[in-house]
Amino acid sequence: MKALLRRATALSLFGLGSLALAATPAFERAPWFEAFKARADDIALYRFLYAMPKGGDLHHHLSGGAFPEWYWSLALAGEEDGYRYRTKVRINDCAYGTDEFSGQPYLLYFHTISEDRWAKLDGCRQGEYEPLEALSPAQRQAWHDALVLDQPHEGRSEFFEAHWARMDDLLANPKLVAELVALNLKHFAAEGVHYLEAQVPLFSLATPEGEPLPPEAGLAAIRARLREPDLAGLPISFRMQLSVLRFLPNAEAALERAYALAARERDIVAVNFVGREDNDKGYPLRFLAPLRDLRRRYGALPLSIHAGEVDEPNQHVRDTLLLGAQRIGHGVNLIHDPDTLLAMRQGPYLVEINLISNLLLNYVDRFEDHPFPEYLRFGIPVALSTDDRGMWDSTLTDEFFVAVKHFDLSFEELTALSRASLTHSFLPEAEKAAVLATFDADLRAFVDRFQQGGLGAAAPEARPPYRGFICRQYQLCPPESAP
Ligand SMILES: [Zn+2]
Repeated sequence: MKALLRRATALSLFGLGSLALAATPAFERAPWFEAFKARADDIALYRFLYAMPKGGDLHHHLSGGAFPEWYWSLALAGEEDGYRYRTKVRINDCAYGTDEFSGQPYLLYFHTISEDRWAKLDGCRQGEYEPLEALSPAQRQAWHDALVLDQPHEGRSEFFEAHWARMDDLLANPKLVAELVALNLKHFAAEGVHYLEAQVPLFSLATPEGEPLPPEAGLAAIRARLREPDLAGLPISFRMQLSVLRFLPNAEAALERAYALAARERDIVAVNFVGREDNDKGYPLRFLAPLRDLRRRYGALPLSIHAGEVDEPNQHVRDTLLLGAQRIGHGVNLIHDPDTLLAMRQGPYLVEINLISNLLLNYVDRFEDHPFPEYLRFGIPVALSTDDRGMWDSTLTDEFFVAVKHFDLSFEELTALSRASLTHSFLPEAEKAAVLATFDADLRAFVDRFQQGGLGAAAPEARPPYRGFICRQYQLCPPESAP
């Protein structure tokens, strides 16, 4: 019996039985990994997890997933194509009684706009902005810091109400959006990620003069960039999702526009709803009739929808499954909905878990309060993802590190997370099978190298970036910086 179990686990880890493992709690613990964890310090564990082949990042906002230094250099590079930017570095008290609760508050430093929009401001307001290239070193540092949640007082409101408002016109340039795809693919490939399914901003594109551009302009720029040799050879697959800001008055029209585009374009695989869920103008069942109507007219599209990223116990996850979602983004409050938990156990639906996001946006006070380990060990398919990792200054490796540190994951569980992310991806079936086979082979080779020669053999080239989150929280920092 024991031999049979061992064989079943081996099969699960590397092939035949692994589809079942994705949805089944794994009780076995590979002794070699337990022994490694027992003797490894944080640096060794992080290096292992960085080099370890991983599945996909299924929950990734391209705009929030980009690091400030990428925006900075791409904004300056956009000058070649006529895109010039200015950012607000002072408040001249040009007006009183401004709407500070709109999407564009007046009292907001480092709000970045196009030169064209700046030229249309009155003289007083023009004096509040400086060209990016003219910022002093201190202003430039503050511009970067203003896009990252790195202070104890920053949390949900800073993220939802300030970060996105600051970026504003930065996302107008289709080439910049395409380059964000390129940078993401390179960085994810470097940490062993095999697939990226990103929510891409295609409905905010414009010319340098502010004339709206169709989403097809963004698609063309992204596809052209993907064909360039530095990306074409990368061992990572890529697909796009479109997102709809759920609480706006025109969300139904935005949904229709996104759904119709996704139905036409094969590399757009899903539609998502985004935006803070504690704004109940975007409650899930608002979209029940519109989605049924869209399915009738365009056919069924895959849906991955944010739900349960909220403090209040409610039935948003159940309601979102009723919308037709195959995947749930976050699902933090699913733990309070026993009927839906039972329905999802061993089920076909996956919860995209974003540990760092949920901590920094205060949906949990401590990682120990997160329901992720219960979902995983109760048998609900889950995968780790990064959400807006540019704003956390983190990586997918950080998510795995947090999971192992706080929940003592087994190697079987690590493997199940990666395999679940691929089996629940919205890749076409043939490509999904190919990516899974590559992932399994890469993981097997990694484990073989590790078992024969230790970390030095398994990860000889691993140069983890140690970004801000992991440096601040765990003192894993680049050699030249301190937390
Ligand atoms: Zn998200």
